[in-house]
Amino acid sequence: MNMRVYCRCGNMLTNQLDPNDTEYYVYSDREWCEIQKNEYIHVLDIPYPRYNVWHCEKCGRITLFDDSYNLVKVYKPEE
Ligand SMILES: [Zn+2]
Repeated sequence: MNMRVYCRCGNMLTNQLDPNDTEYYVYSDREWCEIQKNEYIHVLDIPYPRYNVWHCEKCGRITLFDDSYNLVKVYKPEE
């Protein structure tokens, strides 16, 4: 799903470009192990991870959304 969100720093984030450096696919080890149980899974059939992870290249914040794009958490870098 293509969308735009504003990071808390004011930078507009979008996943409209494909490829982009904004949207990350981050799986927990548990999620990945479940996927690997199906050893013949096609790459296009790999399910999306539990969280939709967006990275702001301007300020480095990481924003997590759930699968309905509801905000879950915003992480701000310490250093
Ligand atoms: Zn930002």
